Amino acid sequence: MNPSRDNNNRVVIIGGGPSGIAVFGALVRRGSVTSITIVDPNPVGLGNVYGDLFANDPVLLCNTPTGFMYLDDTARRDFLDYLVDRGWPVGLDDQVPRFLFGDYCRERFHTFRAEAERHGTTVTVVERRAESIRIEDDGYAVVLDNGEAVSATDIVLCIGMEIPKLAPLVQRFQGHPRLLRGSYPAARLRELAPNSHVLVLGVRSSAQDAITMLCRNGHTVTATSPSGRLSAVRDRCSVPDSAKLDRERWLSLHPDDPQIIEKVTLYLTEEVLAAGEGRSLEDQIVVEDSDTVQRLKAELAQALRGDTRWADLTYEGLFTLNSLVGPWPPEARAKLMPLAYPLLTHYVNALPVLTAQNLLANIEAGRAVIKDVFTRSIDADADGWTVVWADDSTERFDYVVSTSGFHFPRFISDGDAVIRLTHDGAIGDATVVGLTKDLRLQRQGHPAERIWAVGAACGQRYPFAHVIMLAAAQAPHVAAMLVDGAAGNVEEIAPTFGNGSRMAVAV
Ligand SMILES: Cc1cc2nc3c(=O)[nH]c(=O)nc-3n(C[C@H](O)[C@H](O)[C@H](O)COP(=O)(O)OP(=O)(O)OC[C@H]3O[C@@H](n4cnc5c(N)ncnc54)[C@H](O)[C@@H]3O)c2cc1C
Repeated sequence: MNPSRDNNNRVVIIGGGPSGIAVFGALVRRGSVTSITIVDPNPVGLGNVYGDLFANDPVLLCNTPTGFMYLDDTARRDFLDYLVDRGWPVGLDDQVPRFLFGDYCRERFHTFRAEAERHGTTVTVVERRAESIRIEDDGYAVVLDNGEAVSATDIVLCIGMEIPKLAPLVQRFQGHPRLLRGSYPAARLRELAPNSHVLVLGVRSSAQDAITMLCRNGHTVTATSPSGRLSAVRDRCSVPDSAKLDRERWLSLHPDDPQIIEKVTLYLTEEVLAAGEGRSLEDQIVVEDSDTVQRLKAELAQALRGDTRWADLTYEGLFTLNSLVGPWPPEARAKLMPLAYPLLTHYVNALPVLTAQNLLANIEAGRAVIKDVFTRSIDADADGWTVVWADDSTERFDYVVSTSGFHFPRFISDGDAVIRLTHDGAIGDATVVGLTKDLRLQRQGHPAERIWAVGAACGQRYPFAHVIMLAAAQAPHVAAMLVDGAAGNVEEIAPTFGNGSRMAVAV
């Protein structure tokens, strides 16, 4: 089924988290459609990340500053305005508790809904999980977990990330009562026996969340990973007033170019130096591989001095990376992206100063250890875990928390006319159902569907769209395609600069 637009769109948005609300707002601003149904078992607006699953503890902060968090990229100060209106003494570079962004999205949903209804659009919320999409002669049927179905002419998938991966080291212990899969929900971490000794597998953002909560709750923690490398530390990263990257030069890179690695290294070096405004590379980046704690101290000091100017490249860097690799064939992404991930996770996932200071305080107080060596073996019994480290020492732990990132959404075509929604993919995976450059699902041998994927749901093609600012940038393009039949040009979404203020709701 590939119906053409007939001004009678009945849209179903599957997933009512921030990306779903960004799409909802963009549809409302674009013009009236007949109906919009949001399908999500969670309260609309909160999503997984800013709702009960990943945000139910006030120490859990947004990873990105408020200046990077918005639902409409022409109104980038909207979240900040929302906070300031409620008395929060914060600025664009501050990280705020995660649940606040959920509150903001939920409130904006109610505003958009009122606006949609004023223009005659019927808005319905269905508190169920969607299991699959059935392709029918005159549209689609979204099949719910209770067997009922919602019919649609157009579907937007905004199903985010929800299932943490399990570290390979502990996969054989899946289901062990002392093994926690991921750092959330926070309530689960609060249930551990008092004064436990906990092994955290992973050192990135979710691991930092676990360390913060566990140490605050009175436990001791050892965190480790095969690389043992913490992310860098940064002081700020807001939307700049003007371009800092040579976008054309980046977009002219070709995946088959044998010199691509050298070129990327050269471009990055030149741009980090330019962003540094006279600072040398050594001033901005800790290059020597001292031990983890020394490196953390050195990177924190650099950030506190205001010398981590490479962070100013993050905003444009993510947009440019999506535009560069989105049009590449899947094999090229599969070959080249893994080479970039260590660098990307080190700098894009850099620890905000507050998180780094908190970690260092826990280390210096003896509550947390970042282990430089990885485990040689791990075994479980009813009372806990025995770890043999690579330096041959042995250590007992009461619990293991595995924080190895998240599975991405994946779409599977079981038969000719059904697309099943799953959460077991990896970023950059080619899956059975393809994704066009304009974010539409396409089964092999069929035309592209009127089913769009936004945010993490398009991770098979666009590596960083799960960051909310990129989903917010995709939303108006999808609304234009869906409502007005505009040509899809999602791969060309370019960053814009400066900070727009209040969100315009009225159409
Ligand atoms: C721990 C963590 C911290 C993060 N911090 C930040 C940050 O600070 N800044 C940032 O920009 N990004 C951050 N991210 C990335 C994050 O993915 C986005 O910010 C944001 O959550 C994307 O919103 P979303 O609506 O796409 O996804 P989600 O928040 O994951 O919401 C998805 C929604 O879809 C629903 N859903 C899923 N499957 C179905 C289904 N089959 N049927 C019906 N509904 C379904 C879920 O119930 C959920 O409500 C973080 C991610 C994680 C995991």
